[in-house]
Amino acid sequence: MTQLADWLHREIAANGPMPVSDYMTHCLLHEAHGYYTSTPVFGAEGDFITAPEISQLFGEMLAAFHTHLHQLFGAPTDCLTFEAGPGRGTLAKDMRTAYRAIAPHLHQAPCYLLEASPQFQQAQAAALAPDVPTFITDLSDLPAKPLFGVANEFFDALGVNQAIYHQGTWHERLIHSQEGQFAFMIGAPLQDGHPMRQSSNLPPAPEEGDIIEHSPHGEAIMTQLSTHIAYQGGGILIIDYGKPDNQGDSLQAVKDHKPADILSYQGEADITHWVDFARLSQIAHQCGARLIGPVAQGRFLQDVGIGTRAEALRDPANPAGDRALLAAIDRLVSPAQMGHAFKVALLVPDGEGFPPGFASLEDASLEDANPENDKFESA
Ligand code: SAH
Repeated sequence: MTQLADWLHREIAANGPMPVSDYMTHCLLHEAHGYYTSTPVFGAEGDFITAPEISQLFGEMLAAFHTHLHQLFGAPTDCLTFEAGPGRGTLAKDMRTAYRAIAPHLHQAPCYLLEASPQFQQAQAAALAPDVPTFITDLSDLPAKPLFGVANEFFDALGVNQAIYHQGTWHERLIHSQEGQFAFMIGAPLQDGHPMRQSSNLPPAPEEGDIIEHSPHGEAIMTQLSTHIAYQGGGILIIDYGKPDNQGDSLQAVKDHKPADILSYQGEADITHWVDFARLSQIAHQCGARLIGPVAQGRFLQDVGIGTRAEALRDPANPAGDRALLAAIDRLVSPAQMGHAFKVALLVPDGEGFPPGFASLEDASLEDANPENDKFESA
């Protein structure tokens, strides 16, 4: 048993069964034994690989997108760049390298990183040296300025609660500990005003055993980011595994590039959930902002020109390098790999129109009369 499992058993013995989001947060961020606070985790040698670790082209395309957005907002000189949950700092570094070449204002702007793990803060500082970012753990520390930001595989790591439909009503789903084992259990029925009941997209006709999810932490962060963008301007790209609705149990654990049991390997496996973009969009709207999309990652990257950029990088003298480049692009773009399951959305102040990368939504809105039209099928 891991030290963290031992700690969790004692915690549950003392305080009773644990909400799923607390369990997830302890597994990821427990100060001594959490997954993000103790072991170096991703990259080819870690447990899983993220888009920026596949190719620098990913960061270049996002930086090019920010450059366009910055111009759309009147090219403010007094602005911020921002990333939520930068992991090893690879994306932040690649984007800064690209800003230096194409967007001097963004390169000169202060860089704010929201990062809870001191170990990852160190890795990010090393990746960005000699540039010095400002680390924050609370979004209320962001200065009141226009902000150009990104959150890649960040919302999926924020704790999620679950409810299960049982005997005609929704009950909280909890984790308990029995004879040295963890197990899910059905808790008390959800009160009428419970936030989990307020999602716009609950299953219309739930059946016994159906599960829904709700991320209190994700909602709090989305509220703060949306309020910032609504009042200060700018935009934030949110990229994650996305689901079109709030149906089903989306929790998943990954260890050594393979799926693992959620209730085993505490602190030794990554645990994430699929992000409910419909709910994020609802929150943005309530705060006076607008979430554009999501569109499939493959579609977005192709629309902002990853193919053209790759052509420019090809080198006839280096066929092996060319093959590696094409393989990396295939991994980012192809629907069978990351291109479809991953979605890209853009948080901007309330308004109209669709920037590059999201133009397919404009076509979709023109065809709104067509019920076959599913914005989640655009890869
Ligand atoms: N964006 C990176 C890594 C994603 S992993 C990439 O694409 O490679 C999730 C990241 O979010 C880690 O850096 C983790 O430490 C951070 N994180 C998780 N929960 C957080 C929280 N509540 N506040 C701030 N950072 C958090």
